[in-house]
Amino acid sequence: MHYLVITTGSCGNCYIFSTGEDTIIIDDGVTFKKITEKMAEHDIPINTVRAAFLTHLHPDHSKGIGVLQRKLNIPVYISKLSRERNESIMIRQKIELDRLFTYDYGTPIDIPGFSIVPFPTSHDSDGAAGYAFSAEGIDYFLMTDTGVIPDEAWDLAEKAKVKFIESNYDEKMLEEGGYPPFLKERISGRYGHLSNREAMDFAKRTSRHGDSVYFVHLSANNNTPQIVRDLARKEIPSGIFCRVCERGELFEGFQDGKEG
Ligand SMILES: [Zn+2]
Ligand SMILES: [Zn+2]
Repeated sequence: MHYLVITTGSCGNCYIFSTGEDTIIIDDGVTFKKITEKMAEHDIPINTVRAAFLTHLHPDHSKGIGVLQRKLNIPVYISKLSRERNESIMIRQKIELDRLFTYDYGTPIDIPGFSIVPFPTSHDSDGAAGYAFSAEGIDYFLMTDTGVIPDEAWDLAEKAKVKFIESNYDEKMLEEGGYPPFLKERISGRYGHLSNREAMDFAKRTSRHGDSVYFVHLSANNNTPQIVRDLARKEIPSGIFCRVCERGELFEGFQDGKEG
């Protein structure tokens, strides 16, 4: 498996997973040009993309999806609740509703090369989701934009060898920073984002020797990659590979442990 974090954070989010023959895209908050360029650079043929999945409909995760849907003619999946509650956003983002597929949380979706299990997250976008999936016999897990760890996430993350986990903010930086109180409350609240400490604790408790953990969606204002790296070094046992995906950074990895 070949994975590509095209970018992560409030500037845009886009994750690509490819077996070489089959590819899925999770979230599309970037331009179609950027996706095609980066995939070509990393030798992932665009005609292997089988489907796209959205975690939620905030623009940093979904603003490119309408164009992607039209250019590639692929199914796009969101939760039933997200479809029901966010019609005006979808129209604004020019998402083609007749080619939008919906799911119930917990029900596996089988597409060529992948079996995907969506689970609910807790965010201020109705119907938000995280994804666990398996491909080539390996389990993966991706959870971003959630104020609390959903109950469903624990077992799925424990099973996964490779995890992508939001590590959004440092508690002290958020508290002492210049954000207005309502925004601080939104971020740290039940429907906001995960703090470094919450992310680290979750990663530690769900990972075993040989697993890989990628920390994603770091805040530009309330976090630094160095803080997350230091915390990971302190908290996560050696033998678990940790990598902080910096905001806007392209990251490429392989399941076999070669990290590039
Ligand atoms: Zn969001
Ligand atoms: Zn986000």
